[in-house]
Amino acid sequence: GAWTAKIVTLFPDAFPGTLGLSLLGKARELGLWALETIDLRPFGIGKHHNVDDTPAGGGAGMVLRADVVGAALAQARIGTPQDRALWPVVYLSPRGAPLTQAMAQRFAQAEGMTLLCGRFEGVDERVLEQFGIEEVSIGDFVLTGGEVAAQVLIDATVRLIPGVLGNADSAVEESHSNGLLEHPQYTKPAEWEGRAIPEVLMSGHHGKIEKWRHEMSQALTRARRPDLWAQYLQKQGKTDAGEA
Ligand code: SAM
Repeated sequence: GAWTAKIVTLFPDAFPGTLGLSLLGKARELGLWALETIDLRPFGIGKHHNVDDTPAGGGAGMVLRADVVGAALAQARIGTPQDRALWPVVYLSPRGAPLTQAMAQRFAQAEGMTLLCGRFEGVDERVLEQFGIEEVSIGDFVLTGGEVAAQVLIDATVRLIPGVLGNADSAVEESHSNGLLEHPQYTKPAEWEGRAIPEVLMSGHHGKIEKWRHEMSQALTRARRPDLWAQYLQKQGKTDAGEA
């Protein structure tokens, strides 16, 4: 079957959200990928279907219960491979490993994945251990819930699935695919508010255009992301001093 995202959430209405639009929405209609939500609420306890309770040891807020989340994850597991390389199980969390393009590539190569969206102060730690869950963060800030983060991760992943992007090249040449940020882009009109498109791009000389783009890519990466630039140089076997 098609690559599938199974999303465990208290707010299934948040999906597909932006994933239903444009290229990703079309691709989903075409069956290139699928999305399934598993509502946490029916797994809740008692007549009010409570899903959360106060933190052991005290403190502010509420924590999603291990038994409730565990039951939802057990349902999500039905019919999925147990090998985490074939079917990653991810908890979106500000404590997680930062989401990268390489990670999205790994997820895109699996048969699908399960995503657990947290709320409140998060989920009982035991459920993370029990299900061999990896934690992934979309950045060093705190969101109210994991739903937006899950959409970010799914968006980054699904666009790497063969056939989803119209033009296969666009995923090869963009920012982060080669360790560099992308060069500036321009389109019509040729002149706007007194600003002209760089001459080389109008020259029709493909060799010169490629060279210019690569140089701009390098300059941008060096100026904006010294961390990526250092990694890039290391891969090329160079040091910053050796680079003009
Ligand atoms: N108490 C948690 C902590 O300090 O690590 C934060 C919980 S946060 C208010 C609620 C939920 O939002 C989390 O369980 C997680 O699913 C999601 N979330 C918040 N920030 C996130 C981030 N940077 N990346 C991914 N998910 C995030």
